[in-house]
Amino acid sequence: MTFEALGLHTSILNALTEAGYTAPTPVQQQAVPAAIEGKDLLVSSQTGSGKTAAFMLPSLHRLASAPYTGGAGKTAAQEAQSARARGERPRFRPAQPKMLVLTPTRELALQVTTNTTKYTSHLRHIKSVAILGGMPYPKQMQLLSRNPEILVATPGRLIDHMDQGKIDFSQLEILVLDEADRMLDMGFIEDIEKIVAATPESRQTMLFSATLDGVVGNMARRITKDPLVIQI
Ligand code: AMP
Repeated sequence: MTFEALGLHTSILNALTEAGYTAPTPVQQQAVPAAIEGKDLLVSSQTGSGKTAAFMLPSLHRLASAPYTGGAGKTAAQEAQSARARGERPRFRPAQPKMLVLTPTRELALQVTTNTTKYTSHLRHIKSVAILGGMPYPKQMQLLSRNPEILVATPGRLIDHMDQGKIDFSQLEILVLDEADRMLDMGFIEDIEKIVAATPESRQTMLFSATLDGVVGNMARRITKDPLVIQI
């Protein structure tokens, strides 16, 4: 099995070759074609199985194939400058991400953004940003003002930004819960419910977890529609 056979965009295939990936892992072989078609996924797999690429590659393929809507009109920074020139206070425009990845920890969020940067080396208009607890707010506001397509976030800090009206999920197309069982163990269930409720019903949802039993299984079934279940 090759990455070409999974139907990925040439720009992504070139990035994978440069990253030294020669063949998809078992979870990627099952997840990528279904996710490209827009199917919801429930995946039980461990760290090291290649799960990050299993959700990120098909998502990038979908984002790269969609009509490009960014770049129309002025950027937030240009708009703020014109407002100041008119003697007005700049109006804050919330970020409108197309994809959100929730992770239990800062470390995992950073790992996901590092990998995403590798996979988007030939898709430079697709930006990803990590929103993490412990990072200074002004820095995060600056990152959000670039209106990135992809947010990778820990739940608590994301809720802070949502409560302040800094993020608008009305354009969200893809939601990923990475290591969902760990997020629940860490007490993030209410935050996750609140975040999911703020996203459109029409979204594609992919949930990755070491186990799909018990509480995580219940939540998984509530937030997905007719999911493909993959057990590695
Ligand atoms: P993950 O399970 O997503 O944490 O990935 C584990 C490691 O495997 C990461 O360092 C990835 O960059 C790497 N990796 C993922 N998929 C592949 C692949 N198909 N070929 C080679 N390395 C991979």
